[in-house]
Amino acid sequence: MKIFIDGKYYDRNEARISVFDHGLLYGDGVFEGIRIYGGKIFRLRDHIDRLYDSAKSILLDIPMSKPDMEKAVSDTVRINERSEGYIRLVVTRGKGELGLDPAQCEKPTVVIIAGDIQLYPQEYYEKGIAVVTSSSRRMPSDSLDPRIKSLNYLNNVLAKIEAKQAGCLEAVMLNHEGYVSECTADNIFLVRSGKLATPAVNCGALGGITRSAVIGIAGSLGVEVREAQLTRYDLYTAEECFMTGTGAEIMPVTKIDGRIIGEGQPGSMTRKLIYEFRKFVEAQ
Ligand code: PMP
Repeated sequence: MKIFIDGKYYDRNEARISVFDHGLLYGDGVFEGIRIYGGKIFRLRDHIDRLYDSAKSILLDIPMSKPDMEKAVSDTVRINERSEGYIRLVVTRGKGELGLDPAQCEKPTVVIIAGDIQLYPQEYYEKGIAVVTSSSRRMPSDSLDPRIKSLNYLNNVLAKIEAKQAGCLEAVMLNHEGYVSECTADNIFLVRSGKLATPAVNCGALGGITRSAVIGIAGSLGVEVREAQLTRYDLYTAEECFMTGTGAEIMPVTKIDGRIIGEGQPGSMTRKLIYEFRKFVEAQ
């Protein structure tokens, strides 16, 4: 495996960044997770745009133009001869001193890894998964806007641990007002009366690339999608529920906090969207 670091490629065992990198010391940086399907990079431009928006909001000046970044990502996939997989694109504040001040850092570090993807087992897509609500909440936007895909994932990590402790794979995270925001690394949707609803991004959700693909697919099927403030009650009483994300794609959720959702198995709308999403990916 060849890993891109600041314009050069290194073997997996040789790929290193400094222990003084502020990405490590302070979680000061941004990242993207991107899928490769059939040798094609899924929605690369959208991921690059989100990366640069995240960086801009934290005053991180990425030392490459967007076209150069796109090329670096494509080259990394090509060099690694990847036809299926997952790309991790990370931009940190770079190497600095022991102190928060980003002005201490010479230059941001850019890392691109094109590796394997750990897929959820197929049976979860057929049966759906159980989730719990975590006590760890999404970051309020006046502290750190959850639209920024930053290297600070600790509250999501804690939520994930809570989910595992409860015997579940995922957790639903609420925002500081108690509205549903998303899961630890996935957006969430519910189905009611043939319509979709998903938390608005200003409820603390990341503007997921899969989320927006699903909204587009639903639109093309003539299915209405509402971006709204949703409560746990809305989830508990939904007819169907599913999560969306780069890794999970569309994952049916059939139990939330011990409540069976709908019929307790993936519903017809969720199954239809899984089917349409697959077609959509293949047509890219
Ligand atoms: N929410 C969070 C917190 C995430 O980290 C991610 C990405 N894994 C998502 C939602 C889903 O976004 P995307 O569809 O762009 O992968």
